Amino acid sequence: MSSIGHQHLKNNMADTMNALPFFYGNITREEAEVYLRQSGLTSGLYLLRQSRNYLGGFALSVSFSGRIYHYTIERQPNETFAIAGGKSHRTPMDVIDYHSQEMDGLVCLLKKPCNRPKNMQPKVGPFEDLKDKLIRQYVKQTWNLQGAALEQAIISQRPQLEKLIATTAHERMPWFHGAITREESEPRLQCGSRTNGKFLIRQRDQNGSYALCLLHEGQVMHYRIDKDSHQKLSIPDGKKFDTLWQLVEHYSYKPDGLLRVLTDPCPRPDGDSGKISQHQRQNDFYNITSHSSRRDSDNLNPYETSVCDNQAVDKEAMPMDTKVYESPYADPDELRSSTVDRKQLFLEDGELGSGNFGTVIKGTYKMRRTEKPVAVKILKNDDNSPAVREEMLREASVMQQLDNPYIVRMIGICEAENLMLVMELAELGPLNKFLQKNKHTSVKNITELVHQVSMGMKYLEEHNFVHRDLAARNVLLVTQHYAKISDFGLSKAVAEEQNYYKAKTHGKWPVKWYAPECINFFKFSTKSDVWSFGVLMWEAFSFGQKPYKGMKGTDVLQMIESGKRMDPPANCPPEMFDLMKTCWTYKVDERPGFSVVEPRLREYYYDIAQ
Ligand code: AMP
Repeated sequence: MSSIGHQHLKNNMADTMNALPFFYGNITREEAEVYLRQSGLTSGLYLLRQSRNYLGGFALSVSFSGRIYHYTIERQPNETFAIAGGKSHRTPMDVIDYHSQEMDGLVCLLKKPCNRPKNMQPKVGPFEDLKDKLIRQYVKQTWNLQGAALEQAIISQRPQLEKLIATTAHERMPWFHGAITREESEPRLQCGSRTNGKFLIRQRDQNGSYALCLLHEGQVMHYRIDKDSHQKLSIPDGKKFDTLWQLVEHYSYKPDGLLRVLTDPCPRPDGDSGKISQHQRQNDFYNITSHSSRRDSDNLNPYETSVCDNQAVDKEAMPMDTKVYESPYADPDELRSSTVDRKQLFLEDGELGSGNFGTVIKGTYKMRRTEKPVAVKILKNDDNSPAVREEMLREASVMQQLDNPYIVRMIGICEAENLMLVMELAELGPLNKFLQKNKHTSVKNITELVHQVSMGMKYLEEHNFVHRDLAARNVLLVTQHYAKISDFGLSKAVAEEQNYYKAKTHGKWPVKWYAPECINFFKFSTKSDVWSFGVLMWEAFSFGQKPYKGMKGTDVLQMIESGKRMDPPANCPPEMFDLMKTCWTYKVDERPGFSVVEPRLREYYYDIAQ
């Protein structure tokens, strides 16, 4: 595996914001006021900073007539930005542009940016530093993953994990004592150092109500923290926050109605610096998220969505929640074998689909410790041609060498009443058909799936395999948020030095998905898979439409040779159409590989999914 998993890419939005000279990052309201004063406090002078109470939100500080006004720019659920109650805009920069033309409720027009002093970088919030570490620990513990499977989970689900972590991060804080009573909390604060402002937070009930307990002149004060119908947390009549750690941050620099500011976190009795025992940690995470470690929960529906008391958390099941994320043989107690015992294989009635070899039906494979839902490709018995049998075995031998969460894995071959290829089940079927039926699928969702395909393809590229039949019909969905590449019937391993496969003759080829060098010179490489990937993206963003509709294969080639390409699908994000066009670069050497395509998709996905 390459090291790309470790060097997580910064998302676009954060980069764009940090590049703005009037963006100060995570500074307080008071600090903002100091900067505006230093710059002369002229009317219409403004700066932008990160919101300290709302996840992903910003704050705008403007001076007018010698006073300073602060406005929250909230990130709304539909990924737009607005000053509370105002017009929605695509980005925080658009909010600023708009208010330099229109007051629309603001105290004055935004006239002049108050830029950061030379050499000052936007301030990084305390959570930013913790985030990576927390995400890694969370994924490790919740899904019991390690190595490549862990890295791939983090890359593909980073936006969702960030939200999850942000709303559960308090569990890792030394000041969070969980569900203890008021009576239990007092001796904890009174014991050891009795600094004014020493504090802890306890959980009052399961509905998201907490209490802040604060030591003041030797006495413990208890403040209720309630959650409103919008899931915002606040001390009665106080400021509202998305998360407990933001609330603690705020009251640590400002009493804002409390008797004093929070100073020293009162450590939990079970650890001095916020360390909780492994057992408790897993329980804590388990209770809060209900995400299940697959190995402990084989009776649970693998696709069940998580139950979580916070709406800010994405409730969609993640790929890691399913039984087909990790290799069936990742558990060392399972026997590694590529043959499937017929007695352990249970077939159901009804077809999942049919292909060249025969039918594909659903089943269950009982392994030593677990049971896997499987898809079984059954070779037609009436087809006695050894060539077809050979072909199926060749497909099996390619699949056997691949192990990636975004590729349908082969579980084994079963020789019984028929020759059967037993694979992981991707029950929602081909991507093109799914999108044809589900026209309301969001751009974010489509980008998420297409990004997963690029991750699987990057893996193939790294392992010197060419797929040769990459198309939306060959991407199967496990859930609406989990795609796997399938159909390795045409796939080939290529030599590292030569890096392409030369077909001897023209076959029954999906020419509309093929790069010009495939058709003209019969040459297939990772780069020709990249071309197909561009067509696959086009299919996905057009909700499963046929590419080059109504055209003959020969006309398509002529169109490509003349330099023309397909038009963008309706409402396709320009960033995604640009990437498709890059995949359709005529010259192989100038066309990027998946090591470039995947991070570009990733960047765009993080940006819109943040
Ligand atoms: P194929 O012969 O590989 O083209 O498969 C034919 C059809 O069977 C596909 O279009 C799917 O609808 C279905 N199918 C194949 N493999 C799987 C799988 N692993 N899980 C679920 N359905 C599958």
